[in-house]
Amino acid sequence: MNNENCIFCKIIAGELPSRKVYEDDKILAFHDINPAAPVHIICVPKIHVGSLNEIEPKNLEYPARIIEKIPEIAKIMGIFDSGYRVIINVGKDGGQSVGHLHFHVIGGKQLPLGLV
Ligand code: 5GP
Ligand code: ZN
Repeated sequence: MNNENCIFCKIIAGELPSRKVYEDDKILAFHDINPAAPVHIICVPKIHVGSLNEIEPKNLEYPARIIEKIPEIAKIMGIFDSGYRVIINVGKDGGQSVGHLHFHVIGGKQLPLGLV
């Protein structure tokens, strides 16, 4: 089910532009509009899932596909060997600003070593 007011649903529907990196029937990966590092890709399921808190057995194949394809996306972006960080922000304290589940794939430089 899509959410009419969701930015990422609009990107998936092609109603808002994005710089696509990878797409298949279940997921879309595109450049973050405000990159935190030389490589910063957002990976989203092509269904509206509000956050990691809304994962359930019937939609699990979508985030599973994202996890499966992240190494391929890293290869496309040239960071497979140098390494990268995958982040999922959840809710207010997690710093989630867009209410559609997304995986950040960040790299292209040495990232800070602390978690927070
Ligand atoms: P969050 O803070 O929810 O974990 O991450 C949301 C991310 O989406 C942020 O890094 C932000 O820069 C990115 N973002 C927000 N709006 C857009 C947009 O319209 N297009 C793209 N490509 N990225 C966006
Ligand atoms: Zn959405």
